[in-house]
Amino acid sequence: MESVTNQHKLAFFAAVSAFIGVIENFIPLPIPFLRLGLANIPICLGFSLFNFGQITYIVFFKVLMIHLFRGTLFSYPFLIALMGNALFLLMTFPLYFLFKKRWISFFSISLTGAIAHNLGQLLLALFLLPQNVVFNLSLFFLFSGSIMGSINGIICNILYPGVIARFFMENPLYQVHRDYIQCRLCPNFCKLKEEHQFGVCGVRKRENDCIVNPFSGILSAESMDPIEKKPLYHFYPGSQIFSIGFYGCTLKCKFCQNHSISQHKPPPHAEVTQPKELVDYIKKQGLKGIAFTYSEPTLYFEWVLETARLCRKNDIKTVLVTNGYLNPEAARTLLAEIDGANIDLKAFHEDFYQRLCSARLEPVKEFIKIAWELKVHIELTTLVITRENDSLEECGQITNFIAALSPDIPYHISRYHPSYQFNAPPTSEKTIKSWVLEAQKKLHYVYGGNVAFDNDTKCKKCQHILVSRSFYQTDRGGLSKEGRCKKCGSENYFKQ
Ligand code: SF4
Repeated sequence: MESVTNQHKLAFFAAVSAFIGVIENFIPLPIPFLRLGLANIPICLGFSLFNFGQITYIVFFKVLMIHLFRGTLFSYPFLIALMGNALFLLMTFPLYFLFKKRWISFFSISLTGAIAHNLGQLLLALFLLPQNVVFNLSLFFLFSGSIMGSINGIICNILYPGVIARFFMENPLYQVHRDYIQCRLCPNFCKLKEEHQFGVCGVRKRENDCIVNPFSGILSAESMDPIEKKPLYHFYPGSQIFSIGFYGCTLKCKFCQNHSISQHKPPPHAEVTQPKELVDYIKKQGLKGIAFTYSEPTLYFEWVLETARLCRKNDIKTVLVTNGYLNPEAARTLLAEIDGANIDLKAFHEDFYQRLCSARLEPVKEFIKIAWELKVHIELTTLVITRENDSLEECGQITNFIAALSPDIPYHISRYHPSYQFNAPPTSEKTIKSWVLEAQKKLHYVYGGNVAFDNDTKCKKCQHILVSRSFYQTDRGGLSKEGRCKKCGSENYFKQ
């Protein structure tokens, strides 16, 4: 009779234990999403699996074991807990492979949590309970296990996302520190100490211990442009490209030609466009490509990446017009999905980048190298500004850098006009002409921008005109479909 009563008590406590266990694991479920943000969906899903794994183990395993083995040694909750831990570890094992580059993973996390959980119960029982009260000891294990498990579950779920974000994430866009969160998207590496604080770009901000882009999907402009306007002269020449812009910039160029959007936030309640909506629209209109342009697109990293991936699935070409101020990990991820890019190389001395753009030169050079290495079609642009970067020595340094990657990379030398906080006189056409001549000594394709020059593309071998241009009108009569010169058959650097 006594043993039946005890079994009832045991069943009751098992039910209580399971109930608390479910609560313990459900309550912290949204915490990783809130802390890590949607940019880290694989990690968040990992945490969800982790929690669901625990729930499954508690509901099915604990209760089932108590029911199946009632009255035997295996119904003792401490043993059940240990066996449950083993099962749980097996369940989290796939996550270990998912995150195999990190020796510590959910596998070790779950192990640590489980050991701490059960050792805590054991120590409490040994210190607080008479040793000969075996059944009560079992009940105590069950009940205290649930309470300690709850505390463990909540603490783990609060701590682990931060720990993982800091040390173990594959490609983190930010790092969580004790006193601040550091954005790792661009080389500004902003340290955001307060909730709701913006980085120097004025776009990305700290929210719920994550760094997010609250303006994701807000467009400043959309229009059809000739591809030559990007400028891209060797990428589907003569085609039109659907072009969209954003707000904000990672740089603070005092001479910015697009400051009305690059140095401002979007208006309140602006409409948000989802990547899929946009791609559906492009498909419906029968358009062949999209350019992320007008302001700095890399600030909208997640949105542009998602859109570019959708475009690739739908055979739509993508173009990035960028200042190249992006850290290497993010650059590799994004550029892997991009077909063509025009990258600014504003000058070739650090002083220019620091004094006039609040930035550094080296990361831009690194970005260009990565783009070339990843076989993105690239063309480079320099805005030549009176008395700031207009010496032929500067031109020589830039063209040496480009030629070392490949003399085939098209180079656009653009004429400056006073704008934003800069009122130096416009660059003379003579200066642009001398730059073009200087650059042509080392590069095959050099063009003047914002000037009335002959900007035809000639075959790098026989000088036959491949593509002739008059403003944005192009005639590509000298170029074969395969990108070869129709006269001598030489291959030239074209994507078409
Ligand atoms: S993207 Fe913005 S917040 Fe992030 S480091 Fe660059 S400037 Fe700072």
